Amino acid sequence: LRRGPSISKLVVLFAVSSSGGLVAYADSRSNYFAESSQGPPKKKLVVLGTGWAGTTFLKNLDTSQYDVQVISPRNYFAFTPLLPSVTCGTVEARSIVEPIRNIVKKKGGQIKFLEAECYKIDPTSKKVHCRSNIGTNMDGNGEFMLAYDCLVVALGAKANTFNTPGVVENCHFLKEIEDAQKIRRSVMNCFERASLPNLTEEERRKNVHFVVVGGGPTGIEFAAELHDYVTEDLAILYPGVKDLVKISVIEAGDHILTMFDKRITKFAEEKFQRDGIDLKTNFKVVKVSDKAITMSNRSTGEFSLPYGMVVWSTGIGTRPVMLDLMKQVNQAGRRVLATDEWLRVLGCSDVYALGDCATISQRRVMEDIAEIFKVADKDNSGTLTVKEIKDVLDDICVRYPQVELYMKTKQMKDFSDLLKESRSNAKLESIELSIEDFKKALCNVDSQVKNLPATAQVAAQQGEYLAQCFNRIKECEENPEGPRRIRQPGRHRFRPFRYKHLGQFAPLGGEQAAAQLPGDWISIGHSTQWLWYSVYASKQVSWRTRMLVVSDWARRFIFGRDSSCI
Ligand code: FAD
Repeated sequence: LRRGPSISKLVVLFAVSSSGGLVAYADSRSNYFAESSQGPPKKKLVVLGTGWAGTTFLKNLDTSQYDVQVISPRNYFAFTPLLPSVTCGTVEARSIVEPIRNIVKKKGGQIKFLEAECYKIDPTSKKVHCRSNIGTNMDGNGEFMLAYDCLVVALGAKANTFNTPGVVENCHFLKEIEDAQKIRRSVMNCFERASLPNLTEEERRKNVHFVVVGGGPTGIEFAAELHDYVTEDLAILYPGVKDLVKISVIEAGDHILTMFDKRITKFAEEKFQRDGIDLKTNFKVVKVSDKAITMSNRSTGEFSLPYGMVVWSTGIGTRPVMLDLMKQVNQAGRRVLATDEWLRVLGCSDVYALGDCATISQRRVMEDIAEIFKVADKDNSGTLTVKEIKDVLDDICVRYPQVELYMKTKQMKDFSDLLKESRSNAKLESIELSIEDFKKALCNVDSQVKNLPATAQVAAQQGEYLAQCFNRIKECEENPEGPRRIRQPGRHRFRPFRYKHLGQFAPLGGEQAAAQLPGDWISIGHSTQWLWYSVYASKQVSWRTRMLVVSDWARRFIFGRDSSCI
């Protein structure tokens, strides 16, 4: 976090925007501090996005130090891990959203929220260009510009279609609250359509064929939710079509839930098989028309299946505003914006990026790993004992949990086996290994460490970390040699961001879930589902949403899910 000049002059300009509308913006020429009506001038901090990263940042920020403006096209925070539950009415949409203005109010109203979308970030002139979808200024185009001293970019990501023809037009996505509500309506419409008179059995079957593309956690959770909804509620309400319902999951890889431990993948695949969910692994979707989904596989070639509804859940892509920013800061061609370990965007100043739209630069991570080896090799011998290697790996895995997953792949098998064996054989622990050999085996790690997982966990931890840094900047500036500052030359005054992996869940339906906890702890079954309930209840952002979510779960247990097409 860079230190800005102590004084700056603020010039407030009124200018006519490029589209002709009257816009007002503040332009700080030499830099920083915005004039404030009361008290000393404060830095102008603009935050883009009110998702996991943006909201956690705001909640932890000492807003008395900054003049904060928040821009987002939605005026609420959505608890995304419960979105699949919204698709089937297990919880209501309003139960998992918290109005941003509630959060602002709790901060003593020191944050200004503007419901608008940022369509351009200009890091050279330190301005963001925004557009309100509800229209504001005189010519009604709702465009305005904001100047910033510091910019926090937490814009998240959009669904990735891999440019597959027909996906945008014909598939549902599961990213936003509106998506989940649309899916809920669409599921009910499919059942109602299949129940209409004068339909052939084939037409009825088509209507209640639900296809999920993508075998990642979101796709699998949705398929499991839908299966529960059908078997527990809709089968009773639609006896005429219940036996025609089919749920298919299409996955391009060999297995589903590949980011989880193999035991979880195996359990999930077997459970889906028992539940009658059709798992099509090694199938690539090539196009989607309004009637059928076409896929291909090496052995079967290309073929089409008629469907009633398709949910597309194959990971995340980059928002256009981020692509534009990447071009400006010489990061064109990347999938996500690269930052350093302090979350500063590489290639420009005073811009920070976190959450799904950014990642810590791979080169930086590899340098960090090299540094860990250097520190471990105290006698500069170029060798480490198995015991030391174990410690090094523990350290790397704590910082970069993706490496932990990589350790289970075949390139690292020899080392992993040796490490495992040494657990039962103390003598093996003293065997010396060349660091170079070990690094060679680790070299493919590049591709594994390049991105932290795009999860709420990462986004929230980054939001909290960055807020803590922002809270301390003033103190560090006033007291540069103070205890918080790391005095060694060339060192940053704050510790770098370190991700702490707390584990991940995969709800599998039928009141069963799987959890992979730190230290390779695996838990699967009904008790894990209760753990899931308690964790997600405790993680709610307010007591209001916590109460709503818990009461929705209770309502579902007592009365079942609501099947109206509202
Ligand atoms: P988001 O939360 O997506 O927030 C982005 C924000 O930017 C939003 O407020 C958006 O309105 C705003 N925005 C977008 N465009 C603009 C613009 N042009 N201008 C201004 N603002 C803009 N993670 C887990 O850890 N555990 C889970 O169980 C889990 N389950 C998930 C289930 C589903 C269905 C989905 C979709 C995701 C799930 N995730 C889960 C992933 C998690 O939701 C994301 O990693 C997380 O939301 C990323 O946070 P973010 O702040 O980067 O982005």
